[in-house]
Amino acid sequence: SVVFYLGTPRLEFMQQSFSSLLLHTSILRALSDEGYDTPTPIQQKAIPDVLSGKDLIAVAQTGTGKTAAFSLPILHRLQAQEARGRRRIRALILTPTRELALQIDESLRTYGRHLPLRSAVILGGVPAGKQIKAVRQHPDVLVATPGRLLDLYNQGHINLDQIEVLVFDEADRMLDMGFLPDVKKIVSHLPTKRQTLLFSATMSSDIARLARQMQNDPVKVDVTPKVSVPTKIAQQVLFVEKNNKRALLSDILKDKGVLRALVFTRTKHLANRLMKHLLRQGITADAIHSNKTQSARQKALSAFHRGHIKVLVGTDIIARGIDVDGVSHVINYELPHEPESYVHRIGRTARAGTEGTAMSFCDAEEVGLLKGIERLTRVPLTTVENHPFRSSEIAELRQSGKAVGKPVQHRRNGRSAPSSRKGSSNAVQEKPRSDNTPKFGRRSRTVR
Ligand code: AMP
Repeated sequence: SVVFYLGTPRLEFMQQSFSSLLLHTSILRALSDEGYDTPTPIQQKAIPDVLSGKDLIAVAQTGTGKTAAFSLPILHRLQAQEARGRRRIRALILTPTRELALQIDESLRTYGRHLPLRSAVILGGVPAGKQIKAVRQHPDVLVATPGRLLDLYNQGHINLDQIEVLVFDEADRMLDMGFLPDVKKIVSHLPTKRQTLLFSATMSSDIARLARQMQNDPVKVDVTPKVSVPTKIAQQVLFVEKNNKRALLSDILKDKGVLRALVFTRTKHLANRLMKHLLRQGITADAIHSNKTQSARQKALSAFHRGHIKVLVGTDIIARGIDVDGVSHVINYELPHEPESYVHRIGRTARAGTEGTAMSFCDAEEVGLLKGIERLTRVPLTTVENHPFRSSEIAELRQSGKAVGKPVQHRRNGRSAPSSRKGSSNAVQEKPRSDNTPKFGRRSRTVR
């Protein structure tokens, strides 16, 4: 059986060893150093095809082992084939965020530690000097965010004419973040004869179009997990008018039961404003979002890790790929437009087998989003009845059948957001249990 939990991967699957995938012994040694003995489903499905040189389109989320699914066969192929002529970049991995780029580079170094291969990373938001220097050392693999890569290419620092393998990691986010024009320019500088691997958490028509434009008869692999929230996360909803949200947030964060909290907003602007508000209230906080420099983000994360600040406020950029232990509370100050983001956000708590609480503030305009989330996870959130800013009108809106079965269409870039995943339209038990009215700041009983 395959059981996946978004955010915290807990994997059970058919036993198959890495050695049966015929990877180079130096790679197997690195995997054994890491304590990996069994390939994850995406690795089992993708590695043989990537090794054989085929194009691949894979639907896989963070946490499924997708980084190794492309890194391992790429390293294997690069070490097996002599570089033609002078050493040049032979594999290019494009990724939407700086954090992901750094994580992929680290994985490559880990898996390739017993091989004579080099990787380098190029990302925006930090001075380019060191990156230019790293590229001059002739890396075999380059991990990059599109904007900075294009800048350095245009300045003549990077040669891409020997690329044999191109990877799009989290292609859906790359498109969401508006990278398509940069991506197209980059691809126009690559050899047309190459292997192209595309990884995306969702399969939209935009992704299918990208695949058609960039790939040649790709093998398709889908390991979309059954969306499932770890049962150790107590999921609560607090109905509150929009203009009372700030006061409610400070109230909750002052509670002793809240040890370390991540607060999510939809915009960078609001994340900044909230952080300032919390500081004024004497609550230690910092903000992380894509306008912050890399060093500011790392500083904030490390202060949060070390417990120097209690609260990190951020946009969905901190919902995926960031692993911080000991987060007692995730607070959705605003509900995300995509229900999948909710699952990613709340997966930041209850890590490593601990318990956690996810609180979602819901104003009148967000009731439809709440229903979309419940449809996806098939778990009704528990209503917190006794908080000081409770709005019974909004609670009633949720109870009324109005929005049931009809995902609210949120306009984004003039288009409606995708509705929740197929098969998630099962009826949701709408009525919260009346015996379950936890106080905030304290853990309610686990929602199953
Ligand atoms: P990813 O989906 O690439 O972000 O990987 C999620 C996590 O799973 C990372 O922390 C990897 O180190 C870990 N991982 C990847 N493959 C395996 C494996 N075969 N066995 C155990 N852990 C793995």
